[in-house]
Amino acid sequence: MSPPPMNLLSVREARERILSHFQPGTTEALPAVESLNRILAQDVIALDDLPSFDNSSMDGFAIRAIDVAEAKPVSPRTLRVVADIPAGSPPTVFLAPGEAARIMTGAVAPQGADAVIPVEDTDFQDRAAGAPPPPEVTVFASVNQYENIRRRGADIRAGEIALQQGRTLRPQDVALLASLGYSTVEVFRKPRVALFSSGDELLDASQPLEPGKIRDSNSHMLAGLIESAGAEVERLGTAKDTYDSVRAALDKTSALNVDLILSSAGVSVGAFDYVKSVIESNGKMDFWRVNMRPGKPLAFGEYNGIPFIGLPGNPVSAFVGFEVFVRAALGRLAGQTERNRLTIRARCEEEINSDGRESYLRASLRDENGSLIARLTGHQGSGNLLSLAQADALLIIPAGVKCVPAGQEVEAWLF
Ligand code: AMP
Ligand code: MG
Repeated sequence: MSPPPMNLLSVREARERILSHFQPGTTEALPAVESLNRILAQDVIALDDLPSFDNSSMDGFAIRAIDVAEAKPVSPRTLRVVADIPAGSPPTVFLAPGEAARIMTGAVAPQGADAVIPVEDTDFQDRAAGAPPPPEVTVFASVNQYENIRRRGADIRAGEIALQQGRTLRPQDVALLASLGYSTVEVFRKPRVALFSSGDELLDASQPLEPGKIRDSNSHMLAGLIESAGAEVERLGTAKDTYDSVRAALDKTSALNVDLILSSAGVSVGAFDYVKSVIESNGKMDFWRVNMRPGKPLAFGEYNGIPFIGLPGNPVSAFVGFEVFVRAALGRLAGQTERNRLTIRARCEEEINSDGRESYLRASLRDENGSLIARLTGHQGSGNLLSLAQADALLIIPAGVKCVPAGQEVEAWLF
């Protein structure tokens, strides 16, 4: 593999430079029920053992395992039923040898019992609601000690960390918060992003086409990507290719309390690109050529003290630039614990040629006998939005690789 050509930044270097400007923001206390998809700003410690008592994992009979050690269909054992234990009511009995208690799933195992025999292994098959317990029960099978008993603290013990700071709360995590009795939880404030498009050719999506014009698609895509990254978006609309129009858009951001300004287009070196001169009137801006495809030009700087990322205008370049750089920056701002993005591996259906830049290719995936096969979704030009919409993943062809033969595996990011 050869090093990237002079004055091209590697993707990794560009990402690290950007990330070094972002730190986790402030935190807020939220009701735990509203914390879905938010990022934990505290470790969540178990305050109690979970489960907090030994309980039955079956509808059946709490027994002493030794009493039925020899029980078989041909030589069953009969026990005296001395109690009926529904879920939610702690038992008062102490089980003596030869005794059993009917017990429901989730009910507290009585003292003296060390196993539960499922109702299916007994002669008591009446499962109708409200059916009284029988005076005796005949057991046709043995059980091991503690079988069908969920033991106190088996899930987690008081004092242990249940959820770590920096993780995004999923429904199952919110459930765990509820189990542990957390009614509020400290999370990071959502990052806020000001977003604008730029270009004289852009029409609002609702407008009819006119000669030479196109509809602004980037702002819709980027707004969605920002939200998918757990941030809030402030949409500033479209700036014309004039100094004043770009300046007006950028100046709106000072009242918006945003953590990042994101724009698309207008950062190449074209004669009509004013973003750079406006930013430099009140901040600074670097213009990088990154060793990647699509999305080689990338602008990074700050305006009025707010970090600024200028993505390329071509829709697919803007998308890839977001995934490669902006998502990581928002993750850092949002307090997410760093971990590398999960990649999958897929086998290329056809030979893929690359120019040696780190390439992100649109592909659809299918399963064939347990292996993932990737097929490019048609035209890979940076303006071809359709092939992006048809894709399930971006295949990543590393820098320096010019040809991936058919059948070879590559890494991919799933959407
Ligand atoms: P630029 O970066 O301004 O040179 O734009 C590069 C290409 O992206 C041009 O073909 C633009 O028309 C196109 N483009 C710029 N902004 C948008 C946008 N918001 N939505 C769709 N295409 C865009
Ligand atoms: Mg333009």
